[in-house]
Amino acid sequence: GQPELKDPSLIKIAGFIDNEYIHATNDGKTFPVFDPAQGTEIANFPEMGVKEAEQAIQSAKRALTEWRQTTAKERGTILRDWYNLMRENEEDLAKIITWENGKTLSEAIGEVRYSASFLEWFSEEAKRLYGEFIPSPIKTQRIITIRQPIGVVGIITPWNFPSAMITRKFGAALAAGCTAVAKPASETPFSALALAELGMRAGLPKGVINIVTTHSNTKDVGKYLCESHDVAGISFTGSTNVGKHLLKQSADTVKKMSLELGGNAPFIVFGDADIDKAVEGAIAAKFRSSGQTCICVNRLYVHSSIKEEFSKRLQDKVKKFQVGSGFDKQTTHGPLINKGAVEKVRSHVEDAIKHGATVVAGGDSGATTNGYFYPPTVLIDMKNNMRIASEETFGPVAAIFEFETEEEVLKAANNTRLGLAGYFFSRDISRCWRVAEKLEVGMVGVNTGTISSEVFPFGGIKESGMGREGGRQGLDEYTQYKTINMGI
Ligand code: ADP
Repeated sequence: GQPELKDPSLIKIAGFIDNEYIHATNDGKTFPVFDPAQGTEIANFPEMGVKEAEQAIQSAKRALTEWRQTTAKERGTILRDWYNLMRENEEDLAKIITWENGKTLSEAIGEVRYSASFLEWFSEEAKRLYGEFIPSPIKTQRIITIRQPIGVVGIITPWNFPSAMITRKFGAALAAGCTAVAKPASETPFSALALAELGMRAGLPKGVINIVTTHSNTKDVGKYLCESHDVAGISFTGSTNVGKHLLKQSADTVKKMSLELGGNAPFIVFGDADIDKAVEGAIAAKFRSSGQTCICVNRLYVHSSIKEEFSKRLQDKVKKFQVGSGFDKQTTHGPLINKGAVEKVRSHVEDAIKHGATVVAGGDSGATTNGYFYPPTVLIDMKNNMRIASEETFGPVAAIFEFETEEEVLKAANNTRLGLAGYFFSRDISRCWRVAEKLEVGMVGVNTGTISSEVFPFGGIKESGMGREGGRQGLDEYTQYKTINMGI
């Protein structure tokens, strides 16, 4: 059933356009949302389509006229109030996340704070949208640049961080003076709607944010946002294939694109590493949200001299994990998002076993459960011809590859078209610089497995995407420089 909230009005089963909840579409179509820990239906959301997307775009367009002219301080104040409301309601917001996404309540509290931190960060950054004075080569001219909001932005987000992926985009967009139309993942619409409610309470004017809920019409709504002349940019977090598709669809209107796509993070443990720290880092970077974050480790490369020690200590910890409902206190790891996710993990593990890998913890017990569970698993004897070597598993499987030399492991780590995050452990300072510079990724964790934060630019290279979110760079996605050259 529904979690008990201090403020039940944070649960809204609706879309949100022009500061109004849209509880039903004209044709009355809906789509179901499931509790991943039980496999049961928990709500039916209005199945919006192109018509509602257009209404949302027009609402955002109307709102833009005034919003872009507010002062940075005014926008910052609303974002700050929104942040405060999130913190005041963090328990309720966390319960909503656990309910729709499955992650444990403590992970969900972590997400709410991380999510709120983007509103706090951008409430502050709004005031620092500086332009430049550029010395002119011509005596009778003076040149400055100003930064202006790009306009209405289309936002498409995934289910793995139902709250944080929305604020990371809303925070930056609104701070820059843009207005937005968001389409949350159909698996996890509740968090987006709870955020809209708090945003409205914080004083967001009509139309500054809009939320279109859809499942079956996702493709059409996505295409509509990409092709609309009234939408200036698209910010997407999700799979690489969908990201490429959105990029193609947006070519005709030359949109500003911000894409945060899949990762296939390597995690390297050199022979001189602090093994305990490395194990701790691996647990954090591999098993957070049951392995369902885009910066989760996919491939563990461990130096042959310490591979036994490392895998022993890792499996001991993994065997102690308690899998179950995110609401149960003893649960350390929640379910996966849906059946498809479980099947993908299962097929990756089976493929690895078929090619010679050994299961040293977890593995498929064959037990059937109502929810979407897969046991946290450790595999050793991994080879490069296995699917896990090149595909993102997005589940709780730590796959250990062995290596001998730095050169060899860098080659293997970089042998992918993806490049989001990478991690390594070493106590040799020269090697730390060398490897950090050579890993083909957007973010590197050196001697740490936890890297996410609102204060730095988050994003990938190669086919992991373009653009950066968070940090002062996060505003670049939502602003254009305008040069003003003035004769005197
Ligand atoms: P995931 O594997 O995390 O579900 P997706 O890329 O499929 O990754 O989903 C991320 C977001 O993109 C979700 O909101 C989803 O509904 C949306 N989405 C999926 N396919 C499309 C599409 N063709 N056009 C627009 N959005 C899409």
